[in-house]
Amino acid sequence: MKLGVFIERDGVLNQVRIERQHQVSPLTLDEFHVNQDAVALLNKLKAAGLVLVATSNQPGLSRGYQNRREMDRMHDQMRRILPLDDIMVCPHDETDRCPCRKPKPGLLVEAAFKWKLDLDRSFVISDKWQDAEAARTAGCTSLLIQSPWVGKVHRDFVLPDLAAIVEKILHLHTTTRAMVA
Ligand SMILES: [Zn+2]
Repeated sequence: MKLGVFIERDGVLNQVRIERQHQVSPLTLDEFHVNQDAVALLNKLKAAGLVLVATSNQPGLSRGYQNRREMDRMHDQMRRILPLDDIMVCPHDETDRCPCRKPKPGLLVEAAFKWKLDLDRSFVISDKWQDAEAARTAGCTSLLIQSPWVGKVHRDFVLPDLAAIVEKILHLHTTTRAMVA
């Protein structure tokens, strides 16, 4: 089985506006800016044989303020810039009580089924506690970028930036491989 790295989209792979201590997702291609720093870092993970899956809660799709076609254009651009294998989106509102809105683990479980990933040895990267919670439920190792949104839930690592997280994953991945061999 392959190993996955699940990466929160907003705030990690693309820039977000901050309003009253909350992240505001970009809604149009004009507003959508991929983090250029992520390109080389994701390429390192890809070169290590990891399957890279972006994950995102986009309740605007069901609330009506995120246009599906516009989001697809944003994601096409993100795929052209970043070596992503997949982009998984929860389109639901909190009140829909779906199984895929993070902190629920549905997106991770669905991607694991689709890509035949071993969740116990896979990784989750984010700057928010919801992803750490989803990782814990799914059995993945969570790595959070230090931010105002890391909360107090269980997480395996909190590190200063994406570069430090990628180094940590490569180290853990190599160590696990050595142990299995
Ligand atoms: Zn959902």
